[in-house]
Amino acid sequence: MEVKANEFSNKDITVTYDPCKCVLSGICAKELSDVFSNSIIPWVNLDNTETKRIIEQVKRCPTGALNYFKNKRMQAS
Ligand code: SF4
Repeated sequence: MEVKANEFSNKDITVTYDPCKCVLSGICAKELSDVFSNSIIPWVNLDNTETKRIIEQVKRCPTGALNYFKNKRMQAS
């Protein structure tokens, strides 16, 4: 997994995190604790579940602090 500040990638997607928008509700960590953690750094580990599930969870972030884009090499599904 490649990690930049507030940017986390697996082979398919890159998840971005905007701390200014995050209200620390913990929804992401509660609903998908294999990927999002509020106690481990890096706090996002995209290698722990399938990409489809990560995208679902990113879309549930109520503030838009989490976003994602598909990496260029990802095949259209
Ligand atoms: S779901 Fe979004 S707003 Fe809530 S803790 Fe996670 S990143 Fe922050």
